[in-house]
Amino acid sequence: MQVTISTHESANRSGDATPIWSLDELMPRERSDAKASHPFSGVRIMVVAAHQDDETLGAGGSFAECGHLTIVYVTDGAPDRRMSRAKGFATRTAYARARMEEAKRALSLASVETRFVFLGVRDQRAAFHMAKLAFRLRKLFAEFAPDAILTHAFEGGHPDHDATAFAVHAAARMLDKDIPIVEMTGYHNANGTPVYGWFIWRDVPLVTILLSAEARTRKKAMLEMFVSQKGEISCFPLEAESFRIAPRYNFGKRPHDGQLCYERNSFSMTWSLWLRLVRRAIRSLERLHLLRRTVRSLERASAKLIADAAFAARHRR
Ligand SMILES: [Zn+2]
Repeated sequence: MQVTISTHESANRSGDATPIWSLDELMPRERSDAKASHPFSGVRIMVVAAHQDDETLGAGGSFAECGHLTIVYVTDGAPDRRMSRAKGFATRTAYARARMEEAKRALSLASVETRFVFLGVRDQRAAFHMAKLAFRLRKLFAEFAPDAILTHAFEGGHPDHDATAFAVHAAARMLDKDIPIVEMTGYHNANGTPVYGWFIWRDVPLVTILLSAEARTRKKAMLEMFVSQKGEISCFPLEAESFRIAPRYNFGKRPHDGQLCYERNSFSMTWSLWLRLVRRAIRSLERLHLLRRTVRSLERASAKLIADAAFAARHRR
């Protein structure tokens, strides 16, 4: 397995990419064999993926290196009845169930113990639930305490990918403890034409893993389990997987100049709608986070008052 690390020491072109973690922090200290040179070696990873197949497309060849894997699927992968019928399913529910089963079958081949969490948002609707998703993810991050979170980059590819990235970053910022956010590749339209399996350039540490023949074979077998997504999957390269530490995004700034993928395709998302939804999510998060902090401090204050009263009562007797 060949590992290439690029730290991009050159000038920061994007202006908003300030990594807070180094990929070296995920790397094991002992790198005596090829397996140990993988940044995921022995690491407990929580993947937060928008759709069933995103995780395998982005990182399926690397999962065998993990110490443990949890996959959180934000959507159920089924947008509406029309799309479900076009895929050969009578109902949206049947399509969603098939996508869940496909993911389970694929991950059973990943050579790592995997736990699943399905959040069940309707496909293409994640951006409408970003604040709620952030709170649910925050709870999951706190409960499972993974060593690293692996998720989408903010690239204007699919609205659910961007919404997932927003929710992960918001959730991580509400945690008491820092957990590194690592990104996997998806697709984008930054060059004016769709690019699959490669990031939009940002000035952050990047690692590219050239998959061994064994890892490629395993990933191919996993991808074949996503029968309903055959057409979409065929666009992605199989040779390598790239990961990078997530930049600190400004989710109110277009991820690139020119047309975004979801402006080009028939998704019911536009940049102005995205901006409105981000502003709404931030307002809700600020309100709810403040409310929670206030409730917690009130609880602490009441507990102290009760303890003081009990102490005074004991000493009056
Ligand atoms: Zn996706």
